[in-house]
This record gives sequence, structure tokens and C-alpha cells, in this order.
Amino acid sequence: MERRRVFHERNACHFCGRFVLEAEGWAESIPPYHTILATWDDDANFFTGSFHLECVRTFENRGEVRRALVDWLTTTSRLIVIHDEDGQPHEISSTGLGYTEKVAELPDGEIYEDPRFNRWVFVEEAGPYHFLELEAAEALRAGDRVRGDSGGTSAVLPTEPDASIESWSLSELLDFLEVADLYQGLLDNLEPRYKFWEGGFSQAGYVLTYSLSAVRPIPDRVHDFFGRYLPDYAPKRLEDA
Ligand SMILES: [Zn+2]
Repeated sequence: MERRRVFHERNACHFCGRFVLEAEGWAESIPPYHTILATWDDDANFFTGSFHLECVRTFENRGEVRRALVDWLTTTSRLIVIHDEDGQPHEISSTGLGYTEKVAELPDGEIYEDPRFNRWVFVEEAGPYHFLELEAAEALRAGDRVRGDSGGTSAVLPTEPDASIESWSLSELLDFLEVADLYQGLLDNLEPRYKFWEGGFSQAGYVLTYSLSAVRPIPDRVHDFFGRYLPDYAPKRLEDA
């Protein structure tokens, strides 16, 4: 199969290579120390790093990406086969996230439940995934939009900004990063809240610490599902886990 080039630099999208300013539901990264087999990548065994959700949806090999993500999300422990430099296969055991129970198959994707905790993951048909804690599921059930994480995170910027970055709007920051087009949908529809926290230099370059939250793009059918599902759902108790 024809393969598209993918990218491995820090803060660059694995699929398009352009800058990733993280915002839950729009641009995220794979948590460290997880092993998601990157069958589409000729240069690395595992899928790591950052990505724009839209770039997963439009990636040529998104079916492969989705399969690898579902394997990671919906298993507890599993064996995966990786190949060393000489092409020799090795089996290694790896921990999945344990959302083992499929509770919905929707035209938009699937919802899996964690059998031990009150939490779910919605995996879009096109690949991106969205974690939903009970509080978020309750909000969806009530017909509310849910906002993403508003905690701070940091990123190494590709070039040095001037000191006025402290007062830049999100649009100004995105223009500086040359990714405004990739975030247009976020700006237009998802009520982003951006805040500059601090900036400074490290060996890697200028490090921006910021928070950016937005409405999470959860389809109406997922709202509808929790509307049907939660009234009969018995919340799991921590002591039973
Ligand atoms: Zn991208």
C-alpha cells in the first residue's frame, strides 16, 4: 500500500507535520508510556506524540489508525508484535486502557464502557476518540455541551515570539504559529477560552505555558445515547472496583 509520510517532531502533528496547540477535542497527544502499534508508520513501532483530530479523520490510513486506537482503548493486557531493526518479530505485552464493554454502535462511532469505573470512551467512525467521565455523560444526557479540560499545558514554539505574546489573543497566537486555518472550526463553533500563563526559554526553545479549552465536538447521537442509557445505569462504586 502507498504510504504517506508521517512526522515525529515534538509539538508537530503526526499526520500533517504542522504545529499542535493542544485543546481537548480539537488537538491532543497520546499520553506517555502507552503502546499503540503504528502499523502505518515505516519509521516507528509506536504511535506517539501530538495530532489534530481533523488530521486523523482525513488521514489516508485512518482505518489502520482507528484499529490500533480501538485495540489500545478496549483491551486490558494484550500481546503485540513489533519488528526490530532487522525485521525480526518480537512479541511484547502491553497494557490497554480497559474500556472493554461495547455499549453502543452508532452511525458516528462506538461507545465503550470501563467495567470498573463510571467512564466511557466514544470512538469516532473516522478514528478520533473522546473520553467521557460520568459528569460529562450526565451533562450530555441533559442536552448540555461539555467543555474540555481547562488545565494548563506547555509547548515549545517553533520560533521565538516577541514579548507581546503575553497579551496576544488566540487568533494572534494561531497566526504566529501559522496554523490559523487548522483551528478555524474551533474559533467559529467551539467557544475557545485561551489564557497565557507564562513563557520562557529552555534548551529546546521558547516554552509557552497556557490553557486552552473549548466545547468538545460530541455528536448529537452520543447525547441521545446517554439520554437513553443513564436512567437505568447503576453507577459503579469505588469499593467494588
Ligand atoms: Zn495535523
